[in-house]
Amino acid sequence: MSKDLKDKTPAELEEIVTACGGKKYLAGSVFSFIHSKGVGDISQISPLGKAVRAELVQQGYFISKLALSRRLIDPDGTVKYTFDLSDGGVIESVVLLDGRRRTLCVSTQVGCAMNCVFCATGKLKLRRNLTAAEIVDQVYSAENDGTRITNVVFMGMGEPLANYDAALKSVRILNDPAGRNIGIRHLTVSTCGIAPAIRKLAGEDIHPRLAISLNATTDELRTKLMPVNAKYPIKALLDAVETYQFRAKERVTFEYVMIKDLNDSLEHAERLTKLLRRFKCNINLIEYNPHPGCKFKASGTDKIEQFREALSKAGIETTVRFKMGQTIFAACGQLGASCSK
Ligand code: SF4
Repeated sequence: MSKDLKDKTPAELEEIVTACGGKKYLAGSVFSFIHSKGVGDISQISPLGKAVRAELVQQGYFISKLALSRRLIDPDGTVKYTFDLSDGGVIESVVLLDGRRRTLCVSTQVGCAMNCVFCATGKLKLRRNLTAAEIVDQVYSAENDGTRITNVVFMGMGEPLANYDAALKSVRILNDPAGRNIGIRHLTVSTCGIAPAIRKLAGEDIHPRLAISLNATTDELRTKLMPVNAKYPIKALLDAVETYQFRAKERVTFEYVMIKDLNDSLEHAERLTKLLRRFKCNINLIEYNPHPGCKFKASGTDKIEQFREALSKAGIETTVRFKMGQTIFAACGQLGASCSK
């Protein structure tokens, strides 16, 4: 079992604190000192008596901290952080600015096993899952750098639902009123479409917003772009999303990366409309971001606009996300493009 106190829920901390001779109620202070005050040393958790602090240290407990190794700023204001992990892995997270909204796109795995062909992270292969502490610490690091984060999207390196327990735990920790207290509607988990995990999430007592990286309207094309589709085809995926929406009672976002001459015709827009008409949803059309070694091209602005118009006419709320952070490889699908393997 990990000895990292940053990786623990309040309930887990209760057990640890009592096992070290402290009163159960002090676990709440430990949680808030770590996740709200940003304390990084057990000796600074003053509500715990000296003896309890000493016992925690004696038993090998510690509070982890991500090591920020690089910070790049794009002319459009996007900031990309690179973190070196203690085992040699590298992860990245990105702050996106949109009016008063400061969204942090966090990574959940080192690399990714899903192998989506348009994504730089997929080329890195999966090295390991991140812990909940490593996920939440991306938020704290960005905030320590001076940006108060308003929204978190689990859309960086890795597939969050393939690291289900840690991703869900990090949602709980970020949402906890005694910690960073980010509203559940401001936490979005984005998935490539692991249908059983979406159903499992539907059955939880907490429901972050859900985003589905869809990108195609036929199984044939989607399987080519996203191999996960061979296992969980579009129908199975959308049925799972329907279950989630029924439980969460929240709007779902569908992401659709626009790739030139592949998925950007009006025929695709029409099929997309038919597929999604049963949902309370919005669609993000994402301008494709080329990265080194990729073979696709971005759809032209006219094509994207035509596509958007067709969806909007059909009554689907549609937003176009133009490239952000492109010069620093911080745009969608580009994370990891500059990471060593
Ligand atoms: S798009 Fe997401 S799920 Fe697909 S390879 Fe990239 S990081 Fe993994």
